[in-house]
Amino acid sequence: MKDIELSAYLRRLVIGANTKIPLANGEYVNEINFDNAATTPPFFSVMKEITDFAPWYSSIHRGSGYKSKLSSNLYEHGREVIKKFVNADHTRDVVIYTKNTTESINILSYRLSQENKQHVVLSTDMEHLANDLPWRDKFQVEYVGIDEYGKLSLNDLENKLLKYKGKVKLVTVTGASNVTGYINPISKIAKLAHQYGAQILVDGAQLVPHDSIDMKAYDSPEHIDYLVFSAHKMYAPFGIGVLIGPKDIFEKGEPAYQGGGGVRLVSHQFIEWDSPPAKDETGTPNVIGVAALITGIETLNSIGMNVIHEYESNLINYAIEGLSEIPNIKLYCHCEKNEKRVSLISFTMQGIDYNVLAEILSLEAGIAVRSGLFCAHPYVEKLLNLSSEDLEYFHHNHDVPVPGLVRISLGLYNNYNEIDILLQFLDRIVRNKNYYKQKYKNIK
Ligand code: PMP
Repeated sequence: MKDIELSAYLRRLVIGANTKIPLANGEYVNEINFDNAATTPPFFSVMKEITDFAPWYSSIHRGSGYKSKLSSNLYEHGREVIKKFVNADHTRDVVIYTKNTTESINILSYRLSQENKQHVVLSTDMEHLANDLPWRDKFQVEYVGIDEYGKLSLNDLENKLLKYKGKVKLVTVTGASNVTGYINPISKIAKLAHQYGAQILVDGAQLVPHDSIDMKAYDSPEHIDYLVFSAHKMYAPFGIGVLIGPKDIFEKGEPAYQGGGGVRLVSHQFIEWDSPPAKDETGTPNVIGVAALITGIETLNSIGMNVIHEYESNLINYAIEGLSEIPNIKLYCHCEKNEKRVSLISFTMQGIDYNVLAEILSLEAGIAVRSGLFCAHPYVEKLLNLSSEDLEYFHHNHDVPVPGLVRISLGLYNNYNEIDILLQFLDRIVRNKNYYKQKYKNIK
């Protein structure tokens, strides 16, 4: 399929791609959503599945009714679809349904910390806070550094693995950055981690929706031990996330959430936990969310993750090329064209506050972007070269605005025309900075 036909086809898969919204001047335009790294709109197929499934929806597992059995089958079948999607091990891995990536990592960190709190966890300087904060109060955490372009330093990873030889329990790393769009070499990282006796967790929140991922066989040195991701970034925004990992790990220890559904037998004297995944899915499960995620995955599969990756790469490269030509725009990446990345990029415009720029784009052009530190504070702080003195200052002076970036993040339904509109507006803003600054001077 030619890019243009593919683009039109992909756009038709998503609900709300052509929604009219008001601008500051009262005129209505099609909203341009460049905030897909935060969350994505649903696929039509996902909404249809939910409506089709709704009459059959019922309580699962212990229900004896026909609908209950049907709902249970769908819920359990979902785990197989997910395993196949990321090439997890069909017998040794377990898929635990969670609310989102954040919850998945919290559940895992809680569980792993029950074994030995003396262990070291190697996180990195480029993590989302979801893959940083849950480790801090449970382990000694060290952060693998980044280079001058904000890329992960594999040298530093190896140095730290050497320094804490035998003590590192886990290397926890994002598959792709939600700030720079860099894709980390997870196979290489896995190999290194295993070489030093550690396991690896990949935060797949930004990678899984944009590229294929292979957890690889257990006997491969490049095997991914744990993988987490969120359905709401995969066109299935119905409150479901995933934690995948070795079943035997979850057989041990106590679950983070305790209550009904996760036990085999309880008396006032003892608790006998159910086996995983039920043990970690206490309370009434989100069956509709699972139905949505399965259909989301099936739709992504029907397009082909390689097709999605190629289309989105072309789009983001086009955007990067255009942005580089606009004066006063600074891009926060090493933006080589042939470099593999996911479809997002962050930037600043000299002389205009990042929040104001985001507001101008929204109110003048109907373009939704994100601005700030993107829940990756340490990473953005490093990209902006903020010193620890600077950070102390912002920490203690709440009336002083903290620096930040503007981010565009593309979904498979975005197109070249939308990028052209963004580029035109940015160009117009750069050339009329004072006019826009005056007009939006009250925006903080
Ligand atoms: N990790 C990364 C890299 C992310 O971009 C996000 C979402 N912005 C998360 C984790 C957290 O995902 P969720 O909000 O779905 O828990």
